[in-house]
Amino acid sequence: MKINLNGDKMECNKCQGTGWYKVPNHRLEIMENVECMDCLLNQQFKDHLKEELTRLIVNTSPQKLAQIVAQLVVNSVDRNENDDIQRIEGIIHTKNVINALALAEAYSQ
Ligand SMILES: [Zn+2]
Repeated sequence: MKINLNGDKMECNKCQGTGWYKVPNHRLEIMENVECMDCLLNQQFKDHLKEELTRLIVNTSPQKLAQIVAQLVVNSVDRNENDDIQRIEGIIHTKNVINALALAEAYSQ
């Protein structure tokens, strides 16, 4: 499977990724905040895909899933110049499963 992992998407040109944009209310002569439907629908679609994808892979072996998560965490921490790969070693040495999962969850966002 060939995938491009480094493609950065253009930000929404309606709300610049904030989810909200301003439109003039001529009656009250003020600017009003309006929620960006493009981004809202995109977020809902992504939530739907996450649920369906979870359902699809839920019966995969825990070993395989753990291996994928571990690879994801190590590669993500390594790629982030503001993070330190040594902290993964710390987590392993102290057998801190809660921190390991918290780290994986943080990188999954
Ligand atoms: Zn938007």
